[in-house]
Amino acid sequence: MSEIILNAKNMTMRFGGLTAVSDVSIYLKKGEILGLIGANGAGKTTFFNMISGVLTPSDGTIEFKGETISRPRSYQMARLGIGRTYQICQPFLNMSVLDNTMVGAFLRTSSVPKAEEKALEVLRQIGLYEKRDTAGGNLTLPERKRMEVARALATDPDVLLLDEVMAGLNPTECEETIEMIRGIREGGISIIIIEHVMKAIMNLSDRIYVLDQGKIMAEGTPQEISRNPDVIKSYLGEKRHAQNR
Ligand code: ATP
Repeated sequence: MSEIILNAKNMTMRFGGLTAVSDVSIYLKKGEILGLIGANGAGKTTFFNMISGVLTPSDGTIEFKGETISRPRSYQMARLGIGRTYQICQPFLNMSVLDNTMVGAFLRTSSVPKAEEKALEVLRQIGLYEKRDTAGGNLTLPERKRMEVARALATDPDVLLLDEVMAGLNPTECEETIEMIRGIREGGISIIIIEHVMKAIMNLSDRIYVLDQGKIMAEGTPQEISRNPDVIKSYLGEKRHAQNR
């Protein structure tokens, strides 16, 4: 088995009386694309928030690059090599695409020319180079989503967390995003992706975890997950029904 790069063990997040994530253990192998699916409110984003240090877990530990972390901080996790996007893109609207991307690069350098070089390299890689001088506020939705990915990539992560980067995109844009994500993995980055677009998650993922009400309901290959009776009953069936309406 290939090396495990990230091992989140017994992660729990309580918000007052609500347990949003309950004793969830998830590992990610080096070079893997791991899918995280589940109904709205299942706890997926909360899990991302814990492993990227946005939230301090109520319980659990994260093993990453030889360190065991129980109280992650977002700056620390970004420096260690966990990059992420947010479900709701919040670019600096008046800043250019290049400047928005450089914000990520400044995690590793305080030199403006070096940050610019890194940002331009990333923009070329993900197909936004031509838009480098456009203001963030003038981008289309797919372009904004790409810029969000660019900013995360500019931090030079080993692990990239993608939170619903395909929401609101049409089928062609989804296809382009799938290709972009494959390209990122080929560049040596391991990926965890939260997505409701089933075709995309099934196509992209090497392995999938299904969350249900804060707990892991199933884990397996896309084929195993799509045949799992519990998953079909509680999640996939509902989605297939919704897509056929
Ligand atoms: P979606 O697919 O809709 O994004 P999700 O699986 O990402 O859903 P979360 O956003 O992680 O789900 O939410 C899990 C639960 O935790 C929900 O009941 C949500 O209302 C609750 N929750 C999330 N963040 C907070 C918070 N900061 N304070 C209180 N409750 C929260």
